[in-house]
Amino acid sequence: MKTDKKEKSGSLKNYIFMLRFIGQHTPYMLFGYLFFDVLANLPWTLSNVVLLKYIIDVVTEGKDFYRVAIALAAFVVFVVITNLCTTLFYEVSLPKQKEKLYFSIYKTIYEKAAKMDYEAYDNPEYYNDLVLAMTSMNERAYAVLSNTQDILTNIVGVLTIGTVIVTIDPMCLLFVAVCVAIMTPIGRLIAKVNVERTEAMTPLDRKNLYFSRVFYLGDYAKELRLSGAGRMIERRYNDNIFDRLKTISPYLSKQWRLYFCQESLPMTLLIYLGITLFMGYKAIVTKEVGLGDFAATFNGAASISNSVFAITSWFAISFRENGLYVEKFKKFMNAKEKIVNGTDLTVFKKPVTIKFENVSFKYPGTEKYVLKNIDLEISPYKKIALVGYNGAGKTTLTNLLLRLYDVTEGRITVGGKDIRDWDIKTYHENFAAVFQDFSIFGATLGENVSMNDSHDEKKVKRSLDASSFDRELEKGTDTMLLREFDEDGISLSGGEAQKIAIARAFYKDCAFAVLDEPSANLDPVAEYSLNQSMAKAAEDKTVIFISHRLSTTVMADEIFMLENGMIAEHGTHEELLKKNGKYAYMFRLQAEKYSEKKN
Ligand code: ADP
Repeated sequence: MKTDKKEKSGSLKNYIFMLRFIGQHTPYMLFGYLFFDVLANLPWTLSNVVLLKYIIDVVTEGKDFYRVAIALAAFVVFVVITNLCTTLFYEVSLPKQKEKLYFSIYKTIYEKAAKMDYEAYDNPEYYNDLVLAMTSMNERAYAVLSNTQDILTNIVGVLTIGTVIVTIDPMCLLFVAVCVAIMTPIGRLIAKVNVERTEAMTPLDRKNLYFSRVFYLGDYAKELRLSGAGRMIERRYNDNIFDRLKTISPYLSKQWRLYFCQESLPMTLLIYLGITLFMGYKAIVTKEVGLGDFAATFNGAASISNSVFAITSWFAISFRENGLYVEKFKKFMNAKEKIVNGTDLTVFKKPVTIKFENVSFKYPGTEKYVLKNIDLEISPYKKIALVGYNGAGKTTLTNLLLRLYDVTEGRITVGGKDIRDWDIKTYHENFAAVFQDFSIFGATLGENVSMNDSHDEKKVKRSLDASSFDRELEKGTDTMLLREFDEDGISLSGGEAQKIAIARAFYKDCAFAVLDEPSANLDPVAEYSLNQSMAKAAEDKTVIFISHRLSTTVMADEIFMLENGMIAEHGTHEELLKKNGKYAYMFRLQAEKYSEKKN
């Protein structure tokens, strides 16, 4: 019971939070939505009771017809005015307001997501909340609004009709009260069964979502066509449907009984039969009330019971469900960043020394050190290669330098200053970074290189030349990439996409570049020219690059070989070959493989 109360007050708080959010971003929508619906419903609520009673009274008391005509005319004018207002609001204003609300929601989510620690993406709970917020918040915000509107409309209905009934015969409210007293706990039971049903179905819903992802995402399309994967997934999909039917059945059979008990018995016995007999007796036998009163109380009591029924069951269900979604949105919005922003606003015009001082690191929530006691110094303008087997810690090392994570122990300095002292956004201005899993965006080639909505044409071309992007395009740097925003947008090969990503590093005016596997998708010729141009195009930068292909490390000024989170070897290519250690072994192995392939 306590949890029930806690949940309700939680849902109420969440509703208020969402309504305030809507009010802040689209105040007119909040006001219009709540006000106009109540306004639109009022004439019908009143006509069922007040107008009906008035007309019957006029007829039975033999009064003038013109009174009925005036009452009807007033009613029609009221209906036309309210209809005009509501139609204007719903058909003209609401669609625009909705767009505005959706934009505000997405903007808020994007801004928060962009500010969050990168580490948050390692956290499945955060990630799930983000996905949920992204995919369903606009729909939920609207549901909160419409749910509040329904509740409000029903409350106004209950109050107006209740007042009318009390003035006719307060005893009738007793019938309503008993009816509601029976319906409410059954309504709660229905809501409970519904929640249990949703909870039981959630894991199966998740599976369903996976199946639809597999069938609609392009990533899976090739394999689905060329292999038996489609049948494999379809079989699991069928099993899931079977599980869904089996899971839902007991809930359905509980629910229909409860609905029957709730709707049929109290309504039939207390309202349709009880009030008809009670008021009918008073109208026909004792003649204490007129026919108009009889009709008004009968209609009114049924309408109040239905409203209370709706508030206590239907709305209670959506109230809780919407509240849960808003809770997740709130949790996501209130999540605190762990990486603390400093105040230093230095943007280096020229490269300076980078130092790792006894740096150790373990990923948040894990116990294993993936980097241990790393000491390294990178002098300005050097081209540094990080090499090592998979899992050695190369990407982690660059993640720390880019301050996507904070070191666990030790410190990293740039130009002698601890990188934790920087304002993070400003710190990132010092770096151009190309990641292994880079992204190409649905924008022009020029914008994809500048990573901005404007670009310097000549500089883009120079950067693309430096990364050996040599595809001839009719519209040059104005060519749209991908087809999301332009049907003529072009598709790219893996190598072309990678060259564009590399060109970004050449384009950005900054002191340092970090490249993770820059040549992974390139053929040997492109790789060779990248090596040549990298030295030239990035001569004003310090470049740190991770590479598995040791042919690219030949041109590096210094090589750091990592093993199990430690620096195993360090030197130039020649020095390391001469040393004949692990690097030399790896290099020879690759060289042999390469010549085998050529033969
Ligand atoms: P490399 O780039 O040399 O292949 P990584 O730096 O990617 O190596 O990984 C180093 C170690 O850290 C590996 O054992 C890897 O499993 C682990 N690791 C990488 N990313 C994460 C993460 N987000 N959370 C936990 N462990 C991670």
